[in-house]
Amino acid sequence: MSEPVDTDPQSADEREVESEILARREAALAKVVKFGDPVLKSRASPVNEFGPGLRAEVERMAAIMRDGLGVGLAATQLGVLRRLLVFQATPDGEPTALINPEVEWLSDELVLAEEGCLSLPGISVDVERPLHARISGRDAEGEAIAIEASGLEARVLQHEIDHLDGVLILDRTVREQRKGALRALREGGSYSPPGELDDEGEFHEPRTDA
Ligand code: ZN
Repeated sequence: MSEPVDTDPQSADEREVESEILARREAALAKVVKFGDPVLKSRASPVNEFGPGLRAEVERMAAIMRDGLGVGLAATQLGVLRRLLVFQATPDGEPTALINPEVEWLSDELVLAEEGCLSLPGISVDVERPLHARISGRDAEGEAIAIEASGLEARVLQHEIDHLDGVLILDRTVREQRKGALRALREGGSYSPPGELDDEGEFHEPRTDA
């Protein structure tokens, strides 16, 4: 049985908004360094100078993260090897900048979840990480800050700090998924962990690119 054609739930306005969002996302992603660039394997150096230049860089990163529909972005991903990241784990939250982050504590309790990465378009793999994290660092003004994070926020922060150390989700997943993801990257395809079907029997797109 076929549905009548006019049941398309999207109005023309909605479609236009969506295509604008997609165009902005594409433009943002074009600025992000992709897998294969050696910068992603490099360790970033501490930020020593706080001032207008740093604040401008934080603004630029937050805009690219927002337009890219990402939940986090490390300076490394823009080819800048400085220990600086932005994150926003909830859609209605404010982007937060963290400079020279240090992991103070990680919980023994681990959680396995699917992660994507703005530097690995079309790729997601399962990554096991501590559920809770305590991280210190500085804000864009140079003031010391400490963050107690759990769940997605803790995951995003660990993902971004990994970027500052030249570590990718491919280095954090099981061998089989790493192999599958590398094959997809070589062949220009996409990869997601096996058996990740949603209620409608379709692969779900994780909104956790960082
Ligand atoms: Zn990433």
